[in-house]
Amino acid sequence: MSLNPFLIVAIDGGAASGKSSTARALAERFHFLHADTGSYYRALTAELLHRGVAATDPAAVRAELAELHFGTEVFLSSARLKIHGDKISNADIRSAAVNAAVSHFAALPEVRVTLLAYQRGLADVARKHDFRGLVMEGRDIGSVIFPHADCRFFLHADPVERVRRRAREGQADAVAERDRLDSSRENAPLTCPVGAVAIDSTHLSLPEVVEKLARQIFARLLKA
Ligand code: C5P
Repeated sequence: MSLNPFLIVAIDGGAASGKSSTARALAERFHFLHADTGSYYRALTAELLHRGVAATDPAAVRAELAELHFGTEVFLSSARLKIHGDKISNADIRSAAVNAAVSHFAALPEVRVTLLAYQRGLADVARKHDFRGLVMEGRDIGSVIFPHADCRFFLHADPVERVRRRAREGQADAVAERDRLDSSRENAPLTCPVGAVAIDSTHLSLPEVVEKLARQIFARLLKA
């Protein structure tokens, strides 16, 4: 067994499937860096909307993307995207305008290519900050970003329960519509990657979901 294995854990799933809370809890338990890639697509969407660019104009999106500089702030166990040195506020990335636009921007190949390199680079950021691994959550982490991750999970839950979860967070979010757009796009669609462990969280509490994933991560650590 290696003394310092560095693990990459990929968690994919639809909107409000419990990915973020689960990934955050695992990051704290294992001392992993947590990357919520949905927040990166949201931050980029907020920035592009702010610059007056529409997802229906890929040439304008491409031109704006070429201007942007990305960086990372590591805050506790979380990796936050910075654009031109600034963080985009949580209120801005969770706004109704971003909820409505994000899946349209996320379907554009130029947006995905930009974030692909950034997301892969977070493994080095995690190593540099002495984390013992990286837990990244999104839609295409186990299929495209880290297809050879040490552990790959796919979380799903009944759509009615997912809308209820968002409402409890005080958000009106078109969960089903975003899932429809995310699953049907040509580029890196939301899908359960072959070989990933699928978990239905509809009737499970957060600690129960975390425990299921943690057990598999422990097993992987023992094999390392
Ligand atoms: O995870 P969250 O629901 O905040 O993600 C917001 C949106 O970002 C998703 O609906 C999807 O369109 C996009 N996304 C993506 N690929 C990822 C993460 C998020 O396309 N890896």
